[in-house]
Amino acid sequence: MLWNGHSPLLYSKEIFPKHSHIWIQLCSVRIYAYIAKMIDGFGRNIDYLRISVTDRCNFRCTYCMPEHQSFLPHRDLLTYDEIMVLVERFITHGIRKIRLTGGEPLVRRDIHILIDALGQHVRDGNLDELTMTTNGSRLEQFAPRLVAAGMRRINVSLDTLDAEAFRRISRGGDLGAVLTGIQVARAHGLDIKINMVALRGENEDALLPMADFCAEHGLDLTLIETMPLGAGVSERAESYISLEDFIEPLRNRYRLITSAHKSAGPARYWQMEPLGLRLGLITPMSHNFCDHCNRIRLTTVGKFYMCLGSE
Ligand code: SAM
Repeated sequence: MLWNGHSPLLYSKEIFPKHSHIWIQLCSVRIYAYIAKMIDGFGRNIDYLRISVTDRCNFRCTYCMPEHQSFLPHRDLLTYDEIMVLVERFITHGIRKIRLTGGEPLVRRDIHILIDALGQHVRDGNLDELTMTTNGSRLEQFAPRLVAAGMRRINVSLDTLDAEAFRRISRGGDLGAVLTGIQVARAHGLDIKINMVALRGENEDALLPMADFCAEHGLDLTLIETMPLGAGVSERAESYISLEDFIEPLRNRYRLITSAHKSAGPARYWQMEPLGLRLGLITPMSHNFCDHCNRIRLTTVGKFYMCLGSE
Protein backbone atom coordinates (compact mmCIF):
# COMPACT_ATOMS: atom_id res chain seq x y z
CA MET A 1 0.00 0.00 0.00
CA LEU A 2 1.09 3.56 -0.49
CA TRP A 3 1.83 3.90 3.16
CA ASN A 4 3.51 0.54 3.56
CA GLY A 5 5.45 0.46 6.78
CA HIS A 6 3.38 3.25 8.28
CA SER A 7 0.61 2.88 10.77
CA PRO A 8 -2.90 3.34 9.36
CA LEU A 9 -3.04 6.24 11.78
CA LEU A 10 -1.54 8.69 9.31
CA TYR A 11 -2.58 12.08 10.49
CA SER A 12 -5.02 11.92 13.32
CA LYS A 13 -5.60 14.52 15.92
CA GLU A 14 -3.42 12.42 18.18
CA ILE A 15 -0.49 13.52 16.05
CA PHE A 16 -1.54 16.99 15.04
CA PRO A 17 -3.25 19.55 17.23
CA LYS A 18 -6.89 20.31 16.70
CA HIS A 19 -8.26 23.46 15.01
CA SER A 20 -4.94 24.24 13.48
CA HIS A 21 -4.36 25.37 9.94
CA ILE A 22 -0.92 23.91 10.34
CA TRP A 23 -2.53 20.55 10.96
CA ILE A 24 -4.55 20.87 7.81
CA GLN A 25 -1.54 22.04 5.87
CA LEU A 26 0.53 19.16 7.17
CA CYS A 27 -2.28 16.83 6.29
CA SER A 28 -2.40 17.96 2.73
CA VAL A 29 1.36 17.65 2.38
CA ARG A 30 1.30 14.14 3.76
CA ILE A 31 -1.66 13.13 1.64
CA TYR A 32 0.10 14.51 -1.39
CA ALA A 33 3.28 12.72 -0.48
CA TYR A 34 1.74 9.32 0.19
CA ILE A 35 -1.45 9.13 -1.80
CA ALA A 36 -0.53 10.83 -5.03
CA LYS A 37 -2.07 8.17 -7.27
CA MET A 38 -4.43 6.27 -5.02
CA ILE A 39 -3.44 3.03 -6.75
CA ASP A 40 -2.24 0.50 -4.25
CA GLY A 41 0.40 -2.19 -4.46
CA PHE A 42 -2.20 -4.67 -5.72
CA GLY A 43 -3.29 -2.38 -8.55
CA ARG A 44 -6.57 -1.51 -6.86
CA ASN A 45 -7.83 1.94 -7.77
CA ILE A 46 -9.11 3.57 -4.61
CA ASP A 47 -11.91 5.87 -5.72
CA TYR A 48 -14.47 5.35 -2.96
CA LEU A 49 -14.32 7.05 0.43
CA ARG A 50 -16.52 6.00 3.32
CA ILE A 51 -16.80 8.60 6.03
CA SER A 52 -17.95 7.66 9.50
CA VAL A 53 -19.43 10.90 10.81
CA THR A 54 -20.26 9.70 14.32
CA ASP A 55 -19.79 6.66 16.50
CA ARG A 56 -23.21 7.28 18.10
CA CYS A 57 -26.31 5.38 17.17
CA ASN A 58 -29.88 5.40 18.42
CA PHE A 59 -29.96 1.59 18.01
CA ARG A 60 -27.79 -1.03 19.72
CA CYS A 61 -27.98 -3.89 17.24
CA THR A 62 -26.85 -7.04 19.01
CA TYR A 63 -24.27 -7.93 16.32
CA CYS A 64 -22.90 -4.39 16.07
CA MET A 65 -22.38 -2.90 19.52
CA PRO A 66 -22.80 -3.80 23.17
CA GLU A 67 -25.92 -2.70 25.01
CA HIS A 68 -23.99 -0.26 27.20
CA GLN A 69 -21.70 1.42 24.77
CA SER A 70 -19.66 4.48 25.71
CA PHE A 71 -19.20 7.05 22.97
CA LEU A 72 -16.47 9.53 22.13
CA PRO A 73 -16.71 13.05 23.48
CA HIS A 74 -17.94 15.41 20.78
CA ARG A 75 -14.68 17.38 20.84
CA ASP A 76 -12.78 14.32 19.54
CA LEU A 77 -14.82 14.05 16.35
CA LEU A 78 -13.59 15.63 13.15
CA THR A 79 -15.48 18.86 12.61
CA TYR A 80 -17.44 19.29 9.40
CA ASP A 81 -14.83 21.80 8.22
CA GLU A 82 -12.08 19.27 8.80
CA ILE A 83 -14.00 16.57 6.96
CA MET A 84 -14.53 18.91 4.01
CA VAL A 85 -10.82 19.76 3.83
CA LEU A 86 -9.99 16.06 3.65
CA VAL A 87 -12.76 15.43 1.12
CA GLU A 88 -11.41 18.13 -1.16
CA ARG A 89 -7.91 16.66 -0.98
CA PHE A 90 -9.25 13.20 -1.74
CA ILE A 91 -11.28 14.42 -4.66
CA THR A 92 -8.16 15.85 -6.24
CA HIS A 93 -6.58 12.42 -5.84
CA GLY A 94 -9.24 10.37 -7.50
CA ILE A 95 -12.12 9.83 -5.08
CA ARG A 96 -15.37 9.84 -7.10
CA LYS A 97 -17.82 8.36 -4.62
CA ILE A 98 -18.52 9.17 -1.00
CA ARG A 99 -20.68 7.27 1.44
CA LEU A 100 -21.64 8.66 4.83
CA THR A 101 -21.98 6.13 7.57
CA GLY A 102 -21.48 5.77 11.32
CA GLY A 103 -22.74 4.99 13.96
CA GLU A 104 -25.93 6.43 12.61
CA PRO A 105 -25.07 9.40 10.34
CA LEU A 106 -28.46 11.06 10.75
CA VAL A 107 -28.12 11.37 14.54
CA ARG A 108 -25.08 13.64 14.38
CA ARG A 109 -26.06 17.18 15.30
CA ASP A 110 -26.45 19.53 12.31
CA ILE A 111 -25.55 16.77 9.85
CA HIS A 112 -27.40 18.75 7.17
CA ILE A 113 -24.42 21.14 7.10
CA LEU A 114 -22.10 18.37 5.93
CA ILE A 115 -24.68 16.88 3.57
CA ASP A 116 -25.26 20.28 1.91
CA ALA A 117 -21.51 20.93 1.59
CA LEU A 118 -20.91 17.54 -0.02
CA GLY A 119 -23.89 18.14 -2.30
CA GLN A 120 -22.06 21.10 -3.79
CA HIS A 121 -19.35 18.70 -4.99
CA VAL A 122 -22.01 16.59 -6.68
CA ARG A 123 -23.46 19.66 -8.39
CA ASP A 124 -19.97 20.76 -9.46
CA GLY A 125 -19.30 17.37 -11.02
CA ASN A 126 -16.47 16.57 -8.60
CA LEU A 127 -18.25 13.47 -7.31
CA ASP A 128 -20.12 10.83 -9.31
CA GLU A 129 -22.03 9.72 -6.28
CA LEU A 130 -22.89 10.81 -2.79
CA THR A 131 -24.73 8.27 -0.72
CA MET A 132 -25.39 7.07 2.81
CA THR A 133 -25.96 3.98 4.91
CA THR A 134 -28.60 4.62 7.54
CA ASN A 135 -30.83 2.70 9.91
CA GLY A 136 -33.73 4.68 8.42
CA SER A 137 -35.16 5.90 11.71
CA ARG A 138 -34.71 9.58 10.76
CA LEU A 139 -35.33 9.32 7.05
CA GLU A 140 -38.80 10.81 7.27
CA GLN A 141 -37.22 14.07 8.38
CA PHE A 142 -34.09 13.96 6.23
CA ALA A 143 -35.17 12.45 2.90
CA PRO A 144 -35.84 15.81 1.18
CA ARG A 145 -32.45 17.09 2.30
CA LEU A 146 -30.65 14.03 0.94
CA VAL A 147 -32.35 14.42 -2.42
CA ALA A 148 -31.52 18.13 -2.50
CA ALA A 149 -27.86 17.24 -1.95
CA GLY A 150 -27.90 15.04 -5.04
CA MET A 151 -28.26 11.63 -3.40
CA ARG A 152 -30.03 9.25 -5.75
CA ARG A 153 -29.89 6.08 -3.72
CA ILE A 154 -29.14 5.04 -0.19
CA ASN A 155 -28.76 1.87 1.83
CA VAL A 156 -31.15 1.24 4.68
CA SER A 157 -30.29 -1.45 7.22
CA LEU A 158 -33.26 -3.61 8.08
CA ASP A 159 -32.95 -7.12 9.46
CA THR A 160 -36.60 -8.11 9.88
CA LEU A 161 -40.15 -6.85 9.26
CA ASP A 162 -41.43 -8.27 12.54
CA ALA A 163 -41.77 -5.38 15.00
CA GLU A 164 -40.99 -7.49 18.05
CA ALA A 165 -37.95 -9.17 16.49
CA PHE A 166 -36.80 -5.76 15.24
CA ARG A 167 -37.01 -4.33 18.75
CA ARG A 168 -35.05 -7.31 20.07
CA ILE A 169 -32.28 -7.22 17.45
CA SER A 170 -31.89 -3.42 17.53
CA ARG A 171 -32.44 -3.32 21.31
CA GLY A 172 -35.32 -0.91 21.29
CA GLY A 173 -35.68 0.31 17.70
CA ASP A 174 -39.08 1.29 16.31
CA LEU A 175 -39.82 -0.60 13.10
CA GLY A 176 -42.70 1.76 12.26
CA ALA A 177 -40.37 4.78 12.09
CA VAL A 178 -38.04 2.92 9.72
CA LEU A 179 -40.86 1.82 7.43
CA THR A 180 -42.26 5.36 7.34
CA GLY A 181 -38.78 6.64 6.55
CA ILE A 182 -38.45 4.20 3.65
CA GLN A 183 -41.85 5.19 2.32
CA VAL A 184 -41.06 8.93 2.49
CA ALA A 185 -37.65 8.42 0.89
CA ARG A 186 -39.23 6.48 -1.99
CA ALA A 187 -41.84 9.20 -2.39
CA HIS A 188 -38.98 11.69 -2.80
CA GLY A 189 -37.51 9.53 -5.55
CA LEU A 190 -34.64 7.91 -3.64
CA ASP A 191 -33.70 4.40 -4.71
CA ILE A 192 -33.16 2.16 -1.71
CA LYS A 193 -31.15 -0.95 -1.12
CA ILE A 194 -32.06 -2.85 2.02
CA ASN A 195 -29.08 -4.29 3.90
CA MET A 196 -30.09 -7.32 5.92
CA VAL A 197 -27.56 -9.06 8.16
CA ALA A 198 -28.03 -12.84 8.27
CA LEU A 199 -28.43 -13.95 11.88
CA ARG A 200 -28.75 -17.61 12.76
CA GLY A 201 -31.81 -18.24 14.89
CA GLU A 202 -32.78 -14.54 14.78
CA ASN A 203 -34.04 -13.61 11.34
CA GLU A 204 -33.90 -16.70 9.12
CA ASP A 205 -37.71 -16.70 9.00
CA ALA A 206 -37.68 -13.02 8.02
CA LEU A 207 -36.04 -13.60 4.64
CA LEU A 208 -39.04 -14.54 2.50
CA PRO A 209 -41.23 -11.69 3.85
CA MET A 210 -38.31 -9.30 3.28
CA ALA A 211 -37.89 -10.43 -0.33
CA ASP A 212 -41.63 -9.94 -0.96
CA PHE A 213 -41.58 -6.52 0.72
CA CYS A 214 -38.61 -5.39 -1.38
CA ALA A 215 -40.18 -6.61 -4.61
CA GLU A 216 -43.47 -4.90 -3.76
CA HIS A 217 -41.83 -1.54 -3.01
CA GLY A 218 -39.18 -1.57 -5.72
CA LEU A 219 -36.23 -1.93 -3.35
CA ASP A 220 -33.05 -3.93 -3.89
CA LEU A 221 -32.10 -6.44 -1.22
CA THR A 222 -28.57 -7.21 -0.10
CA LEU A 223 -27.75 -9.85 2.48
CA ILE A 224 -24.62 -9.59 4.63
CA GLU A 225 -22.79 -12.25 6.59
CA THR A 226 -22.17 -11.33 10.23
CA MET A 227 -18.61 -10.17 10.63
CA PRO A 228 -16.48 -10.28 13.78
CA LEU A 229 -16.36 -6.48 14.04
CA GLY A 230 -16.39 -4.25 17.10
CA ALA A 231 -15.53 -4.89 20.69
CA GLY A 232 -17.72 -6.42 23.34
CA VAL A 233 -20.31 -7.96 21.06
CA SER A 234 -20.85 -11.39 22.50
CA GLU A 235 -23.66 -12.83 20.39
CA ARG A 236 -21.79 -12.91 17.08
CA ALA A 237 -20.22 -16.36 17.09
CA GLU A 238 -23.60 -18.01 17.65
CA SER A 239 -25.23 -15.68 15.11
CA TYR A 240 -23.00 -16.56 12.17
CA ILE A 241 -24.61 -18.37 9.28
CA SER A 242 -23.15 -18.52 5.78
CA LEU A 243 -25.30 -16.89 3.12
CA GLU A 244 -25.17 -20.15 1.24
CA ASP A 245 -27.28 -21.63 4.07
CA PHE A 246 -29.28 -18.50 4.80
CA ILE A 247 -30.69 -18.18 1.27
CA GLU A 248 -31.89 -21.78 1.11
CA PRO A 249 -35.59 -20.69 1.43
CA LEU A 250 -35.10 -18.32 -1.51
CA ARG A 251 -33.55 -21.06 -3.65
CA ASN A 252 -36.46 -23.35 -2.81
CA ARG A 253 -39.05 -20.81 -3.91
CA TYR A 254 -37.43 -18.74 -6.69
CA ARG A 255 -35.02 -19.07 -9.55
CA LEU A 256 -31.75 -17.28 -8.77
CA ILE A 257 -30.08 -16.17 -11.97
CA THR A 258 -26.53 -14.83 -11.83
CA SER A 259 -26.59 -11.15 -12.74
CA ALA A 260 -23.89 -9.14 -14.45
CA HIS A 261 -24.89 -6.12 -12.38
CA LYS A 262 -21.97 -4.39 -10.68
CA SER A 263 -22.02 -1.78 -7.96
CA ALA A 264 -19.19 0.15 -6.35
CA GLY A 265 -19.45 -2.16 -3.36
CA PRO A 266 -18.48 -5.75 -2.58
CA ALA A 267 -21.80 -7.46 -3.38
CA ARG A 268 -22.31 -10.15 -6.04
CA TYR A 269 -25.73 -10.02 -7.64
CA TRP A 270 -28.51 -12.38 -8.64
CA GLN A 271 -31.86 -11.78 -10.23
CA MET A 272 -34.71 -13.55 -8.44
CA GLU A 273 -37.45 -14.71 -10.76
CA PRO A 274 -40.35 -14.55 -11.13
CA LEU A 275 -40.24 -12.06 -8.22
CA GLY A 276 -38.22 -9.59 -10.29
CA LEU A 277 -35.97 -8.73 -7.35
CA ARG A 278 -32.27 -7.96 -7.50
CA LEU A 279 -30.48 -9.80 -4.72
CA GLY A 280 -26.97 -8.88 -3.58
CA LEU A 281 -24.81 -11.11 -1.42
CA ILE A 282 -21.94 -9.78 0.68
CA THR A 283 -19.90 -12.68 1.95
CA PRO A 284 -16.84 -11.34 3.78
CA MET A 285 -16.50 -14.54 5.78
CA SER A 286 -17.17 -17.31 3.28
CA HIS A 287 -15.80 -15.62 0.08
CA ASN A 288 -13.81 -12.49 0.74
CA PHE A 289 -13.71 -9.73 -1.86
CA CYS A 290 -10.42 -8.05 -0.98
CA ASP A 291 -9.05 -8.38 -4.51
CA HIS A 292 -11.39 -5.77 -5.92
CA CYS A 293 -11.87 -3.57 -2.88
CA ASN A 294 -11.76 0.06 -3.99
CA ARG A 295 -12.40 1.92 -0.78
CA ILE A 296 -10.76 3.82 1.99
CA ARG A 297 -12.37 4.65 5.31
CA LEU A 298 -12.16 7.82 7.32
CA THR A 299 -13.08 7.33 10.97
CA THR A 300 -14.85 9.82 13.21
CA VAL A 301 -11.53 10.84 14.78
CA GLY A 302 -9.63 11.23 11.52
CA LYS A 303 -7.90 7.90 11.12
CA PHE A 304 -7.78 6.19 7.76
CA TYR A 305 -8.21 2.48 7.25
CA MET A 306 -8.18 0.38 4.13
CA CYS A 307 -10.10 -2.39 5.85
CA LEU A 308 -12.25 -2.60 8.95
CA GLY A 309 -12.12 -6.38 9.12
CA SER A 310 -8.43 -7.11 8.78
CA GLU A 311 -4.98 -5.61 9.27
N1 SAM B 1 -26.29 3.10 11.39
C1 SAM B 1 -26.19 2.87 9.99
C2 SAM B 1 -26.95 1.65 9.60
O1 SAM B 1 -27.59 1.03 10.47
O2 SAM B 1 -26.96 1.32 8.43
C3 SAM B 1 -24.78 2.84 9.46
C4 SAM B 1 -23.75 2.11 10.24
S1 SAM B 1 -23.95 0.38 10.32
C5 SAM B 1 -22.54 -0.08 11.28
C6 SAM B 1 -23.53 -0.10 8.67
C7 SAM B 1 -23.92 -1.50 8.28
O3 SAM B 1 -23.08 -2.40 8.93
C8 SAM B 1 -25.34 -1.90 8.62
O4 SAM B 1 -25.95 -2.43 7.46
C9 SAM B 1 -25.16 -2.98 9.64
O5 SAM B 1 -26.18 -3.91 9.59
C10 SAM B 1 -23.82 -3.55 9.26
N2 SAM B 1 -23.13 -4.23 10.35
C11 SAM B 1 -22.88 -3.80 11.58
N3 SAM B 1 -22.22 -4.73 12.31
C12 SAM B 1 -22.05 -5.78 11.49
C13 SAM B 1 -21.47 -7.06 11.65
N4 SAM B 1 -20.91 -7.43 12.80
N5 SAM B 1 -21.48 -7.89 10.60
C14 SAM B 1 -22.05 -7.53 9.42
N6 SAM B 1 -22.62 -6.34 9.21
C15 SAM B 1 -22.63 -5.47 10.24
